[in-house]
Amino acid sequence: MWAMIRGVPHGLVYVRLWREADRPLIFGGKKMRTGSKNPLSDCTLCPRECHVDRLAGQRGYCGQTAQIVAARAALHYWEEPCISGRAGSGAVFFCGCPLRCSFCQNRDIAAGRAGREVGAERLTEIFLHLQQQGANNINLVTATHFVPLLVPALEAAKDRGLRIPVVYNTSSYEKVSTLRMLDGLVDIYLPDLKYVSSALSGLLSNAPDYFETAQEALAEMVRQTGKPLFLSPEGKRLDAEQMNEACCREEGDLADADFLMQKGVIVRHLALPGQGEDSRRVLRYLHRTYGNRIYISLMNQYTPMPGAALKLPELGRKLTQEEYEALTGYAIALGVENGFLQEGDTVGESFIPDFDGTGL
Ligand code: SF4
Repeated sequence: MWAMIRGVPHGLVYVRLWREADRPLIFGGKKMRTGSKNPLSDCTLCPRECHVDRLAGQRGYCGQTAQIVAARAALHYWEEPCISGRAGSGAVFFCGCPLRCSFCQNRDIAAGRAGREVGAERLTEIFLHLQQQGANNINLVTATHFVPLLVPALEAAKDRGLRIPVVYNTSSYEKVSTLRMLDGLVDIYLPDLKYVSSALSGLLSNAPDYFETAQEALAEMVRQTGKPLFLSPEGKRLDAEQMNEACCREEGDLADADFLMQKGVIVRHLALPGQGEDSRRVLRYLHRTYGNRIYISLMNQYTPMPGAALKLPELGRKLTQEEYEALTGYAIALGVENGFLQEGDTVGESFIPDFDGTGL
């Protein structure tokens, strides 16, 4: 269960720890620049820079060609309360991943062992159908390697009446040039900040450049969205401070899930067993760099997957309550006011939906 911190000195409970700009359309649809090279023909979309011709069927590190593949499109209730709300987030889980962490909880779809092909036109219909089902937003999960294909699908959906916010859910192993394709199309970024240590990111994600890459990506995300903005049940637009006040005032009647994020960045950090020092570096970096311009979501749901301990023995166990409480206390001591924490035992596979092609 998620809880929230509301700018109070204690009680870090799922602490709730926006700009339109000219978006350089690089691929797809009527707005592709004349003479522009299709980025999938020599793919450098992400920091792996594989230089493979995905249009010709070649696969790079992410494992995907120029055909969108997804595993599920359905209402999802396990994101932060201002994302899932009461009606759920319209999550589309894409297959393949440019990062491929050794402890991945979605490894079947990350490795491309599940999923089905979805054309751009069908993807537009899926977005609109999720909106019809009452989704609070469209939540694009691990879509980095499909971004040039998503742009025309999102544009078409917006032309046909998509009005709910678009959420981009990412590992942050992203190039700024790729994120700029989304400028003006994405309203909310939901990025991870997994590590500061390059040794750790090298060992567990084969990406010693993770932190320096993620730093630039996060800065671009915050530039695009600006400060967090929420929608109240009465339809009022509230900034973070106003939302915190409204939540407190109406306590008992309204819950965090009644205030839906419309713009902003929520940075997630999954605390790993035995890696408290690096988690503290992550929290320190985020708070000192962005303060209350972002929300921080501190997650305790690490679940040991088969083989997880091969690279780091501590990854064979769960995060202890003591480890998590030490981190939440550290966040409070730093002065984090806008954030989310997880309460109770969130470990297990209940957060992992069936990747059975539902909704595709
Ligand atoms: S998106 Fe895939 S093919 Fe392209 S550079 Fe990244 S990992 Fe390589």
